[in-house]
Amino acid sequence: MALGGPNHLHRSPARAIRAFVWDLADEGIHEVLDRLAQLGIDGINLALAYHGGRFYCPHNRRHGMVHAPDGALYFQPLLSCYEALRPRVHPEYGSGVFVARAREALHERNMSMTAWVVLFNNLTLSMSYPNVTGVNALGDRIEGALCPANPDVRTYAQALVEDLASRVGVDVIEIEDFSFASHLSYTGPRWIGIPIGPNLGYLLTLCFCQHCRHRAEEANIEIGALKYHVERMVRQGLSGSLSDRRIGDEIADPYNPISRYAETRSETITTLLDELNESIAGTKALIQPILSEHPDEIWRWGVELRALRERFQSVTIPTTCSINATHACLDRYAEILELERGLVADIRLRDAEGEANRSLAGLIDACEGFGIDRFVFSHYGLARLDTLDLIGSLAHH
Ligand SMILES: [Zn+2]
Repeated sequence: MALGGPNHLHRSPARAIRAFVWDLADEGIHEVLDRLAQLGIDGINLALAYHGGRFYCPHNRRHGMVHAPDGALYFQPLLSCYEALRPRVHPEYGSGVFVARAREALHERNMSMTAWVVLFNNLTLSMSYPNVTGVNALGDRIEGALCPANPDVRTYAQALVEDLASRVGVDVIEIEDFSFASHLSYTGPRWIGIPIGPNLGYLLTLCFCQHCRHRAEEANIEIGALKYHVERMVRQGLSGSLSDRRIGDEIADPYNPISRYAETRSETITTLLDELNESIAGTKALIQPILSEHPDEIWRWGVELRALRERFQSVTIPTTCSINATHACLDRYAEILELERGLVADIRLRDAEGEANRSLAGLIDACEGFGIDRFVFSHYGLARLDTLDLIGSLAHH
């Protein structure tokens, strides 16, 4: 492979698309890649560690719906590396044969292969290993949310990225849910009879597991008093005697121990990201975090944007169907991250259905206005073929 030639192309797809393994397996790898090449797509972000659920498939010849097992890996992991947490492997694709074929076919065409992986939002592992699940101030398990302060969870994440970089041989590892959980990120059904504002939601999923408490104690935070204080606020918030705005005032007060606790959470995530980068050192792969929150809210989950700027060449940032909202969000991300060519905009094709066709072009225009010229479209197998065709028309836009 020539230096700076195809290798460079593998790493930096200009227009990639998210896909699931069954999309390629059921429709045929070469058929799918032919179609994508015609649309000007030069990379696939393939879900290789992903949530389960029911997926509706508008153009899959074999299925109208696919039911995927939760928390499954779509490659063969080197299990000895994973130590305490043994990942669930997909029964059909877990041998790794298919993903190796997909990688070969992509590289033959100079298309890049990104492993798109969910790290800590994993209901299956959370239920199998209750001790690694987050716990809130009331002692409730935050089911589905593996705590990133837990050493076993960190080892699991390191093993996963190392496996993908060195054994599967992907070009980029795009990591989703690599921080503390939001109360909205739970993948199971939720039953809510009262308003849960963003601040009460934050406190409900603020982790007080033994590892989080230990880190806080090392930072000289009186964790027992803080836990009691948060518990009281949660109870008052749930009963309606404390408004979400007033909870927000406490959270925002820099002298409140809650703010200092937030700093230890940021440290937990920043050091984790360093460990992940170390795990892939010496391979050709790069890690690309997916940011799914508003830039001014993302600190709540332990993500320090300025720390990302120094550690990653690329990050994936969200867009919405509202061009104005996307504009404001991109503006903040562009300002804080200063990554210039490193921003990859996630464009949801669902937003392109119906009358919004023009807005897809508008969204691309808004991104390009910020110097963003790399896109990942979501998702190949969930969109209709005529919607996919819009990507082709945008290529000449
Ligand atoms: Zn914790």
